[in-house]
Amino acid sequence: MRYLTGLLIGIFNFLALQAQRNCGTVEYLKTHPFVASQNITERGGRDTIINEIITIPVVIHVLYNNPAQNISDAQILSQIDVLNKDYRALNQDKAGTPFVFQKLIADCRISFCLAKVAPGGYSTNGIIRKYTNVSSFLPNDDMKFSARGGADAWDTKKYLNIWVCSMQGRILGYAAMPGGPENSDGVVINYDVFGNRGSVRSPFDKGRTTTHEVGHWLGLKHLWGDSDCGDDGIDDTPQQYGYNYGCPSFPRKSLCSTDENGDLFMNFMDFANDACMFMFTQGQKIKMRSVFSKTGFRNAMLQSFTCDSANASAGPLPQETPRTTVAEPIPEMLRLKLNPVSNFIEFIYKEKSLLAGKQVQIFTTTGARLYHAILQTGNEKINVNYLPSGIYLLVVGDGADRNIFKVVKI
Ligand SMILES: [Zn+2]
Repeated sequence: MRYLTGLLIGIFNFLALQAQRNCGTVEYLKTHPFVASQNITERGGRDTIINEIITIPVVIHVLYNNPAQNISDAQILSQIDVLNKDYRALNQDKAGTPFVFQKLIADCRISFCLAKVAPGGYSTNGIIRKYTNVSSFLPNDDMKFSARGGADAWDTKKYLNIWVCSMQGRILGYAAMPGGPENSDGVVINYDVFGNRGSVRSPFDKGRTTTHEVGHWLGLKHLWGDSDCGDDGIDDTPQQYGYNYGCPSFPRKSLCSTDENGDLFMNFMDFANDACMFMFTQGQKIKMRSVFSKTGFRNAMLQSFTCDSANASAGPLPQETPRTTVAEPIPEMLRLKLNPVSNFIEFIYKEKSLLAGKQVQIFTTTGARLYHAILQTGNEKINVNYLPSGIYLLVVGDGADRNIFKVVKI
C-alpha cells in the first residue's frame, strides 16, 4: 500500500509538472548577454505622441521535422490575433481580473503584423516553412541558424523573428531580451503551444506563451524578479515570493505580500495557465514602450515599413523546397558563380546537367521581363553583356523548384 501510495504521488507530481508553465528565458539569459535595464531617461517617451500605436512586423519561421510540426497558416494567424488582443487589452477574459487590480490594466498600444515585405524587397506572407533534420531543439539557439538545422533570422532590427519548432523537455518557449546579439534576437515557441487552434495542447492552448515571451523580448521580467521576493523593476506590480501556476483564486498571498490583495497572478508575466492570465499593467506598458524610445534598443523597428505590401519592390520570396522524409538528401544550393556580373551569368550547381530544361527569366525590379530561355546542357552561361548597369531579378526554374537571385550588372 505504501508503495502504491508513493507511486500515485509520483504520478501526480509528474502530471502536475507536465502541466506547469516552464519558460526557458531565465536559464537562457544565464549564458547569453543582454542589457538588463537600459537608459530610462526617456521612459514613456513614446507616449509623447498621443494614442500612438506601435506596429511590429513579425516573421514566423516554422521548422518542421514531421507534418504535425508544420502548423497551419490558420494556427499562425490565430497567434497574431491573440497578440493583437492582449497588447491592446481587447481580450475579453481580462474581465476576470479581480476588482482591486482592474485599474492597473493597460492598453499597451502595441500591435503586430505578419511582414508583407522580406529583406531584399521581396513580397511575402511573413511565414517561412523549412524542413529540419533536428527532431527536437534545445534552448541553445540552433533553430536560429541554417547551419545548425534552423533558419537564419531576418534583420532583427526590422522584424520580430519568431521560431516555431519542437522543443525538448518541458520548455514552452524562450526569448532574447533587448540588447543581446543581433543574429539571435527573437522569440522561440514550441509548436504545440503556438496560437489557439490546430495542434495546441491544454492548458497552454490560448496563445499566452507567446504573449509572455514577447513580453520578455520587450524587456519585461517575471513578476518575482526571478529570486525569492525579488523585484521586476516595475512599480505597480506587487512584490511576490515566486511564481504561481495553474489557476489561482484571489487573493493569493505569499511570504512577501505587502497587503491583503497579494500576488498579481493573472498577469501575463506570471506562470498561470493560458486561461488564467490576462493583463499587463500600466508600469509594464511604459517599460515595454520605452524600448522604442529614441535611445531604446528597438527604436529602429519604427522605421521598418514592412507591414505594407506596397513597399515590396521585388517578386515573391522563394520558399525552401518542402521535404517529407528525413532520409531525403538535401540538394546543394544553386548559386551564381559571380555577382555582380559584367558579361555572363554563370551557375554553380552540384551537377550542371540537372540545370538542363530549367526555365531562366530576367526581370527588372519593377517586374518587366527582359529575357526568357530554357537552359541546355553545356550552355549554362547567359550573356547579359547587352543589359544596362543596374539591379535585375534572375528567376531559375518554376513552381516550388524556383530560385530567385538579385543580380547586380556592372
Ligand atoms: Zn518567462
